[in-house]
Amino acid sequence: MEHHRLASLQLRCAHCGYQEPFDRALERCPRCEGDWLDVLYDYEGIAGAWPEVLRDRPFDMWRYWELLPLRDDANRVTMGEGGTPLLHAINLGMMLSAPYIYVKDERQGPTGSFKDRQASLSISVMKELGVTEAVVASTGNVAISYSAYSALAGIKLWAFLTSLVPPEKMREVAIYGTEVVKVTGTYDQTKRVAAEFARRQGLYLDRGIRSIAARESMKTVAFEIAEQLPLFLGSGSTPWRAPDWYIQSVSGGMGPVGVWKGYQELVQMGLVDRMPRLACIQARGCAPMVWSFEKGLEEAEPVLQPRTRVITVATGSPGPAYAFLARVVREHGGAFEAISDGETFRAMHVMAKLDGLSMEPAAALAFAGLFKLLSKGVIRRDEVVVVNCSGHTFPVEKHLLGEEWARTVELPAETPAIEEGLLGSLEQLDRSVRRVAILEDDPSAVRLLRRILQACGDYQIFVAHDGRAGLEMIRRERPDVVLLDLMMPEVDGFAVLDALRADEELAGTPVIVVTAKELTTDEWARLSEQSQMLLQKGAFTDEELLREILGALEGKGE
Ligand SMILES: *Cc1c(COP(=O)(O)O)cnc(C)c1O
Ligand SMILES: [Zn+2]
Repeated sequence: MEHHRLASLQLRCAHCGYQEPFDRALERCPRCEGDWLDVLYDYEGIAGAWPEVLRDRPFDMWRYWELLPLRDDANRVTMGEGGTPLLHAINLGMMLSAPYIYVKDERQGPTGSFKDRQASLSISVMKELGVTEAVVASTGNVAISYSAYSALAGIKLWAFLTSLVPPEKMREVAIYGTEVVKVTGTYDQTKRVAAEFARRQGLYLDRGIRSIAARESMKTVAFEIAEQLPLFLGSGSTPWRAPDWYIQSVSGGMGPVGVWKGYQELVQMGLVDRMPRLACIQARGCAPMVWSFEKGLEEAEPVLQPRTRVITVATGSPGPAYAFLARVVREHGGAFEAISDGETFRAMHVMAKLDGLSMEPAAALAFAGLFKLLSKGVIRRDEVVVVNCSGHTFPVEKHLLGEEWARTVELPAETPAIEEGLLGSLEQLDRSVRRVAILEDDPSAVRLLRRILQACGDYQIFVAHDGRAGLEMIRRERPDVVLLDLMMPEVDGFAVLDALRADEELAGTPVIVVTAKELTTDEWARLSEQSQMLLQKGAFTDEELLREILGALEGKGE
C-alpha cells in the first residue's frame, strides 16, 4: 500500500497563521491556543498527478488519500464509505422547472448517512494514535457511524445522546455494542456531560467540528461531486466541475465547512474553475445560524431551547462553524434558510413519491430548503444544484435488544448553572470496571477477545504478547481475570500458570485458557489439576466466553 509523504504536510492555525510540519497530534495552536487547525498539502505535486492516477483507483473516499491526514495507510478503518452516487432528480426537476438538480445520495454509506466519511477517517486516526476507548456526543448519526467503525477497529465507544434522539436511532447505536448514555437535556448540555465524563475517566474525546479528521473527511463529498458532475454536464476548461449551489441541512456545520475547503483545494489545483455557493438549511425551531446571520452577527447566538422534531440537526450552539460559514456566505454569496417541521415532512413525502428517495427528516430538510430558495428566486431555475441527501435510518426492531441497553443521566430541569447539576449527574455513571488481562501472541485473536469484551459490559483490558511480559503485566495491573493462550514465544502458557500458582499473591487469580493447541493427556492433566477453564479457539461463541468470565469473577468474589 502507499504511504503518505507527511514531510510535505503542514499544520496551520486558522486564528494566527502559525505553521509547523504536521508530525505531531496537536489539539491547540502552540502560539495562540486557538483550536482550529488546518492541514496544508503539497497541492502542486498532487494536482499534476491526480486526474490520471485516480482513474485506476476504486470510487470510494480513500481514492483521495493524498489529501487526507492519515499517516500510515495500514491504519485505515474502512468499509466502503464514500463513492456514493450522484443522481439526477428528473421528476422533481420537471415539476419545479429546474432541470439541473442533482442528489448526492449519502444514504448509501455503510450506516446510512454521510457521517460514515467522518467516522472512517476519525476512527482511523484514533487507531493511529493507539486509542482503545473513546467518548462521543451525538444527535444520532455520528454515534451510529462511530459505533460501526469502532467495532471494526476494536475501540470501545461511549456514546452520549440526548434523550430526544428517536428510539430507533438509539437502538442502532446499541446494537454495535456501544455504551449508550442518554442525557435528559439538550444536545449542547449532552456535549458538556460527555466532555466531563471523558476528562474524569481519562478517555479520548471526539472533538466534533474542532477535529481535523472530521472536517477533512467532508472534503471528499466535494471531490466526488466535482468528478461526477461532468458525467452529466460535460466539463469546461477544467477537468472537473463545481455546481453553482451546494445545499445541505446544517446542525454543527461540519459538512459545508469541509465541502468548502474541498472546493478551495480543487480551485487551487486548477481542477475546477469556481467555488459553489453554500446554502445552509436549518430547522426553524433550532436555527441559530439563520437568525444570527439575519442579525449580521459575527458569532452565533445560541438557541437555548431547541423546538424541532428533527433532532439530528438540533444543535443550539453551533460554535466556530458559524463564524466560518457566515463569512463565506457574506463574501461569496449563498444562503441561510429556516424551515418548519411541517415543510420538512412534506418534502420527505415529495422526494419519496417523485423520485423514489425515502430519507430521514434531517435530509428532507435540505430539499425543503431548496424548494423555498427556488420560490424566493435566491436560486435560479437554470442553475446547477447539488443537494446532499444526508441520511436514512435503519429500523432496529425493539425485540432485538433486551431492556437494559442504555444508561441515563438526568440533568436537573432548572439549571441556571449547568455545572452544578453536572457532577451529581455524572455520579449516576460511576463505573464498576472489571480488569481483564489477555496474554496472547496472535493480534487477530487479541482483537476478537477485546471486541467481545468491549461490546458487553465495562472491562478494562490489558494485553501482553508473550508470557514474560504477561507475568510482569499481571504483577503490575492485578487483573480480576486472565485470558491465557498456551502457545506463546519463550515463556509459554504452562509456564505462566506455574509462575502464577507459585506466587502467593497471584495464586487466586482466575485463569481462562484460550487455546488452539491439541492437548495431550499429560497436558490435560496439568490443566485440570490447576482447575482451569478451557476454551478451544475457533470453537466458542462470544456468549460462552462471557459466561466463563462472569463465572470466574463470581468464583473469585466468594
Ligand atoms: C449530521 C447530519 C446533518 C448535519 O450535518 P452538519 O454538517 O454537521 O451540520 C444533516 N443531516 C444528517 C442526516 C446528518 O446526519
Ligand atoms: Zn494560533
